[in-house]
Amino acid sequence: MTDFARLRDRMVEVQLARRGIRDARVLTAMRAVPRERFVDTGLAPYAYRDSPLPIAAGQTISQPWIVAAMIEAATLEPGDRVLEVGAGSGYAAAVLGRIAARVVAIERHPALAALARERIAALGYDNVEIHVGDGSCGLAAAAPFDAILVAAGAPAVPPALREQLAPGGRLIIPIGAPGEQKLRKLTRTAAACFAEQDLGTVAFVPLIGAQGWRNGSTE
Ligand code: SAM
Repeated sequence: MTDFARLRDRMVEVQLARRGIRDARVLTAMRAVPRERFVDTGLAPYAYRDSPLPIAAGQTISQPWIVAAMIEAATLEPGDRVLEVGAGSGYAAAVLGRIAARVVAIERHPALAALARERIAALGYDNVEIHVGDGSCGLAAAAPFDAILVAAGAPAVPPALREQLAPGGRLIIPIGAPGEQKLRKLTRTAAACFAEQDLGTVAFVPLIGAQGWRNGSTE
């Protein structure tokens, strides 16, 4: 039988700690959340591979390192309210929920959202909610957020996500066409002022929606 706890510890040590993830809260959360529960049972033995894996609806669960790097970049505090756009399998939302006070995650594919919700409920993570909808417009009803993490690449920063950041809030988002995405961090320094940082090259599926790529086209 696969010893998932051992694989998880090794993933945290080899893929995260040795590659520069320093935030103890992130390392502890990723040591706690059973990633094998967020993939199809047939893929469970590969859950701790250093790569993304396929999930339903032609989407992916992100590589562990990028999940950790984005959460570390969001500099979360235990009382924070977080929005995740692109819940996919629910894994990153579950990790966020081990660190922040409340996590609201939004996914455009209803079937993925339903599965993510089931997995999170089965693990008893009661501070994580999964919604169905177009997360390129954020989730105004639950705003403001101390951090917003977007797990899909947008053509430009969606205005709604800027607006839904609390003062001091951080937005972590891949920007650019497939093949040339950059991970950006925006920090709301005043009502209409945002400090911007480039966190390097990334490769995410497109953010499809009213404030993302329209009609699934990335042209
Ligand atoms: N964070 C996820 C996880 O832990 O499994 C991985 C997310 S996957 C890389 C990106 C997800 O973004 C896909 O499930 C896709 O359906 C979703 N997505 C794309 N555009 C979206 C939108 N406008 N609103 C919500 N979800 C969206």
